[in-house]
Amino acid sequence: MGFPPSAQPLPDVKRVLAVFAHPDDVDFGSGGTVARWITDGLDVAYLIVTRGDAGGFDDTPREQMPILREAEQRAAAAELGVHDVTFLDGYFDGRLTATVELRRDITRAIRRFRPDRVLTSSPLRRWERIAGPSHPDHLAVGEATTCAVYPDARNEFAYPELVAAGLQPWVVREIWYQSGPNPDHVVDVTDTFAAKLAALRHHVTQTSHMDLEPFLRERHATIARGAGLPDDRLAEAFTIIRTE
Ligand SMILES: [Zn+2]
Repeated sequence: MGFPPSAQPLPDVKRVLAVFAHPDDVDFGSGGTVARWITDGLDVAYLIVTRGDAGGFDDTPREQMPILREAEQRAAAAELGVHDVTFLDGYFDGRLTATVELRRDITRAIRRFRPDRVLTSSPLRRWERIAGPSHPDHLAVGEATTCAVYPDARNEFAYPELVAAGLQPWVVREIWYQSGPNPDHVVDVTDTFAAKLAALRHHVTQTSHMDLEPFLRERHATIARGAGLPDDRLAEAFTIIRTE
Protein backbone atom coordinates (compact mmCIF):
# COMPACT_ATOMS: atom_id res chain seq x y z
CA MET A 1 0.00 0.00 0.00
CA GLY A 2 1.30 3.45 -0.90
CA PHE A 3 0.03 6.99 -1.17
CA PRO A 4 -1.97 8.13 -4.20
CA PRO A 5 -0.39 10.89 -6.33
CA SER A 6 -0.24 14.18 -4.43
CA ALA A 7 -2.97 16.78 -4.76
CA GLN A 8 -1.96 20.31 -5.76
CA PRO A 9 -1.41 22.46 -2.63
CA LEU A 10 -4.42 24.59 -1.71
CA PRO A 11 -3.89 28.20 -2.82
CA ASP A 12 -5.53 29.91 0.17
CA VAL A 13 -3.82 28.39 3.20
CA LYS A 14 -3.27 30.76 6.11
CA ARG A 15 -2.40 28.51 9.06
CA VAL A 16 -0.28 25.35 9.25
CA LEU A 17 0.02 23.06 12.27
CA ALA A 18 3.04 20.73 12.29
CA VAL A 19 2.62 17.64 14.47
CA PHE A 20 5.68 15.48 15.18
CA ALA A 21 6.91 12.89 17.65
CA HIS A 22 10.30 14.32 18.59
CA PRO A 23 12.21 17.58 18.72
CA ASP A 24 14.17 17.80 15.41
CA ASP A 25 11.70 15.80 13.24
CA VAL A 26 10.18 18.88 11.62
CA ASP A 27 13.59 20.49 11.11
CA PHE A 28 15.16 17.45 9.43
CA GLY A 29 12.21 16.73 7.15
CA SER A 30 10.66 20.11 6.49
CA GLY A 31 12.82 22.95 7.83
CA GLY A 32 13.37 24.54 4.44
CA THR A 33 9.68 24.33 3.57
CA VAL A 34 8.56 25.78 6.90
CA ALA A 35 10.97 28.68 6.38
CA ARG A 36 9.41 29.29 2.97
CA TRP A 37 5.89 29.22 4.42
CA ILE A 38 6.92 31.81 7.01
CA THR A 39 8.42 33.99 4.27
CA ASP A 40 5.17 33.63 2.33
CA GLY A 41 3.25 34.99 5.34
CA LEU A 42 1.71 31.75 6.62
CA ASP A 43 1.15 31.31 10.34
CA VAL A 44 2.91 28.12 11.46
CA ALA A 45 2.66 26.39 14.87
CA TYR A 46 4.29 23.19 16.16
CA LEU A 47 2.83 20.45 18.34
CA ILE A 48 5.57 18.10 19.56
CA VAL A 49 4.34 14.92 21.25
CA THR A 50 7.47 14.00 23.29
CA ARG A 51 10.56 15.81 24.51
CA GLY A 52 12.83 13.25 22.86
CA ASP A 53 13.91 11.74 26.18
CA ALA A 54 15.39 8.62 24.52
CA GLY A 55 17.57 10.64 22.11
CA GLY A 56 21.19 11.75 22.20
CA PHE A 57 24.54 10.07 21.57
CA ASP A 58 26.83 10.89 24.50
CA ASP A 59 26.96 10.84 28.31
CA THR A 60 24.61 13.79 28.87
CA PRO A 61 22.71 12.91 32.09
CA ARG A 62 19.48 11.26 30.94
CA GLU A 63 17.27 13.43 33.14
CA GLN A 64 18.65 16.48 31.34
CA MET A 65 17.75 15.22 27.88
CA PRO A 66 14.05 16.25 27.73
CA ILE A 67 14.86 19.69 29.15
CA LEU A 68 17.68 20.27 26.68
CA ARG A 69 15.68 19.00 23.72
CA GLU A 70 12.65 21.16 24.44
CA ALA A 71 14.92 24.22 24.55
CA GLU A 72 16.67 23.10 21.34
CA GLN A 73 13.35 22.74 19.51
CA ARG A 74 12.16 26.16 20.65
CA ALA A 75 15.41 27.75 19.46
CA ALA A 76 15.25 25.89 16.13
CA ALA A 77 11.64 27.00 15.63
CA ALA A 78 12.53 30.62 16.37
CA GLU A 79 15.36 30.36 13.81
CA LEU A 80 12.72 29.69 11.12
CA GLY A 81 10.26 32.28 12.50
CA VAL A 82 7.97 29.85 14.36
CA HIS A 83 7.09 31.06 17.85
CA ASP A 84 4.04 28.97 18.72
CA VAL A 85 5.49 25.67 19.98
CA THR A 86 3.53 23.32 22.26
CA PHE A 87 4.78 20.11 23.87
CA LEU A 88 2.37 17.45 25.05
CA ASP A 89 2.88 15.99 28.53
CA GLY A 90 2.65 12.33 29.45
CA TYR A 91 4.10 10.85 26.25
CA PHE A 92 7.57 9.32 26.06
CA ASP A 93 10.10 8.86 23.30
CA GLY A 94 10.06 5.33 21.90
CA ARG A 95 6.71 4.38 23.41
CA LEU A 96 4.15 6.10 21.16
CA THR A 97 1.14 4.36 19.72
CA ALA A 98 -1.87 5.92 17.99
CA THR A 99 -4.10 5.82 21.05
CA VAL A 100 -7.45 7.55 21.44
CA GLU A 101 -5.81 9.76 24.08
CA LEU A 102 -3.15 10.92 21.63
CA ARG A 103 -5.82 11.51 18.97
CA ARG A 104 -7.78 13.61 21.45
CA ASP A 105 -4.73 15.67 22.41
CA ILE A 106 -3.91 16.35 18.74
CA THR A 107 -7.59 17.15 18.11
CA ARG A 108 -7.45 19.69 20.94
CA ALA A 109 -4.49 21.41 19.28
CA ILE A 110 -6.24 21.39 15.89
CA ARG A 111 -9.42 22.91 17.30
CA ARG A 112 -7.41 25.59 19.09
CA PHE A 113 -5.19 26.63 16.18
CA ARG A 114 -7.68 25.92 13.37
CA PRO A 115 -5.12 25.09 10.67
CA ASP A 116 -5.98 24.84 6.98
CA ARG A 117 -3.03 22.49 6.51
CA VAL A 118 -1.44 19.92 8.82
CA LEU A 119 2.14 18.76 8.32
CA THR A 120 3.08 15.45 9.94
CA SER A 121 5.10 12.28 9.54
CA SER A 122 4.04 9.46 7.26
CA PRO A 123 1.93 6.73 8.86
CA LEU A 124 3.13 4.43 6.06
CA ARG A 125 6.36 2.56 6.62
CA ARG A 126 9.17 2.81 4.07
CA TRP A 127 10.34 -0.76 3.81
CA GLU A 128 13.46 0.18 1.86
CA ARG A 129 14.71 2.43 4.68
CA ILE A 130 13.17 1.58 8.02
CA ALA A 131 15.75 3.43 10.14
CA GLY A 132 14.96 7.10 10.60
CA PRO A 133 11.80 7.85 8.63
CA SER A 134 9.99 4.72 9.78
CA HIS A 135 10.71 5.05 13.51
CA PRO A 136 7.58 3.62 15.20
CA ASP A 137 6.94 6.94 16.95
CA HIS A 138 6.83 8.71 13.57
CA LEU A 139 4.39 6.16 12.19
CA ALA A 140 2.22 6.43 15.33
CA VAL A 141 2.06 10.23 15.22
CA GLY A 142 1.29 10.16 11.49
CA GLU A 143 -1.57 7.75 12.14
CA ALA A 144 -2.93 9.58 15.21
CA THR A 145 -2.75 12.93 13.40
CA THR A 146 -4.57 11.52 10.38
CA CYS A 147 -7.32 10.22 12.69
CA ALA A 148 -7.46 13.60 14.42
CA VAL A 149 -7.94 15.36 11.07
CA TYR A 150 -10.60 12.85 10.06
CA PRO A 151 -12.91 12.25 11.77
CA ASP A 152 -12.08 13.55 15.25
CA ALA A 153 -11.50 17.30 14.83
CA ARG A 154 -14.54 17.82 12.60
CA ASN A 155 -16.96 15.57 14.49
CA GLU A 156 -18.92 17.59 17.04
CA PHE A 157 -19.78 14.40 18.92
CA ALA A 158 -16.17 13.28 19.34
CA TYR A 159 -14.64 14.26 22.68
CA PRO A 160 -17.54 16.17 24.29
CA GLU A 161 -15.03 17.44 26.87
CA LEU A 162 -13.38 19.51 24.13
CA VAL A 163 -16.67 21.08 23.07
CA ALA A 164 -17.44 21.75 26.75
CA ALA A 165 -14.09 23.58 26.92
CA GLY A 166 -15.20 25.80 24.03
CA LEU A 167 -13.27 23.98 21.28
CA GLN A 168 -15.64 23.70 18.35
CA PRO A 169 -15.27 21.24 15.46
CA TRP A 170 -12.79 22.23 12.75
CA VAL A 171 -12.15 20.88 9.25
CA VAL A 172 -8.48 20.64 8.24
CA ARG A 173 -8.47 20.69 4.44
CA GLU A 174 -5.07 19.25 3.58
CA ILE A 175 -2.33 17.05 5.07
CA TRP A 176 1.33 17.12 4.03
CA TYR A 177 3.25 13.95 4.94
CA GLN A 178 7.03 14.04 5.28
CA SER A 179 9.36 11.05 4.90
CA GLY A 180 6.80 8.66 3.44
CA PRO A 181 7.18 6.24 0.54
CA ASN A 182 7.68 7.85 -2.90
CA PRO A 183 6.96 11.50 -2.04
CA ASP A 184 6.03 13.31 -5.25
CA HIS A 185 5.50 16.97 -4.33
CA VAL A 186 8.79 18.83 -4.13
CA VAL A 187 9.47 22.23 -2.62
CA ASP A 188 12.56 24.14 -3.78
CA VAL A 189 14.39 25.02 -0.56
CA THR A 190 17.60 26.37 -2.08
CA ASP A 191 16.91 29.85 -0.70
CA THR A 192 16.00 28.62 2.80
CA PHE A 193 18.65 25.90 3.10
CA ALA A 194 20.84 28.12 5.30
CA ALA A 195 17.95 28.69 7.70
CA LYS A 196 17.26 24.96 7.84
CA LEU A 197 20.90 24.26 8.60
CA ALA A 198 20.93 26.91 11.33
CA ALA A 199 17.77 25.42 12.85
CA LEU A 200 19.26 21.92 12.88
CA ARG A 201 22.42 23.20 14.55
CA HIS A 202 20.30 24.23 17.53
CA HIS A 203 19.63 20.51 18.11
CA VAL A 204 23.05 20.15 19.71
CA THR A 205 22.27 16.89 21.53
CA GLN A 206 21.34 15.28 18.21
CA THR A 207 23.51 16.88 15.54
CA SER A 208 26.76 18.18 17.06
CA HIS A 209 28.56 14.95 16.12
CA MET A 210 27.35 15.11 12.50
CA ASP A 211 28.86 16.76 9.45
CA LEU A 212 25.48 18.27 8.73
CA GLU A 213 25.97 20.48 5.71
CA PRO A 214 27.36 17.94 3.19
CA PHE A 215 24.90 15.31 4.43
CA LEU A 216 21.92 17.61 3.92
CA ARG A 217 23.16 19.10 0.65
CA GLU A 218 23.52 15.64 -0.86
CA ARG A 219 20.07 14.56 0.35
CA HIS A 220 18.29 17.68 -0.91
CA ALA A 221 20.23 17.82 -4.19
CA THR A 222 19.21 14.21 -4.87
CA ILE A 223 15.54 15.06 -4.28
CA ALA A 224 15.83 18.10 -6.56
CA ARG A 225 17.54 16.12 -9.34
CA GLY A 226 14.94 13.36 -9.08
CA ALA A 227 12.21 15.96 -9.62
CA GLY A 228 13.94 17.42 -12.69
CA LEU A 229 15.00 20.70 -11.05
CA PRO A 230 18.19 22.41 -12.32
CA ASP A 231 21.51 21.06 -11.02
CA ASP A 232 22.16 23.74 -8.42
CA ARG A 233 18.80 23.36 -6.65
CA LEU A 234 17.93 21.76 -3.30
CA ALA A 235 14.49 20.37 -2.47
CA GLU A 236 12.36 18.70 0.19
CA ALA A 237 9.63 16.23 -0.82
CA PHE A 238 6.16 15.45 0.50
CA THR A 239 2.90 13.68 -0.21
CA ILE A 240 -0.16 15.97 -0.17
CA ILE A 241 -3.62 14.58 0.58
CA ARG A 242 -6.85 16.57 0.44
CA THR A 243 -8.98 15.90 3.50
CA GLU A 244 -12.24 17.83 2.92
ZN1 LIG B 1 12.04 11.48 15.31
